[in-house]
Amino acid sequence: MGDYKIIIKWELCTGCGECNAVCPSECYDDPVDGKTVIAREDDCVGCMACESACPEEAIKIEEN
Ligand code: SF4
Ligand code: SF4
Repeated sequence: MGDYKIIIKWELCTGCGECNAVCPSECYDDPVDGKTVIAREDDCVGCMACESACPEEAIKIEEN
């Protein structure tokens, strides 16, 4: 398990891909069916860039 958990409020996610665009660790893949894809949660370094960038405030990063 990595140090951080990526929590998405799926009902809010529009699949805009901003989280994928800003993540320095490539934790996300391109959105599928209008929702982002958490691909490498273990690589999260807790920078909070995705949380800040999400226009829907759909992301919360928590420490494990
Ligand atoms: S930035 Fe937010 S709304 Fe956009 S794809 Fe990521 S989680 Fe979804
Ligand atoms: S907190 Fe930083 S490293 Fe973790 S998923 Fe978001 S952008 Fe990527």
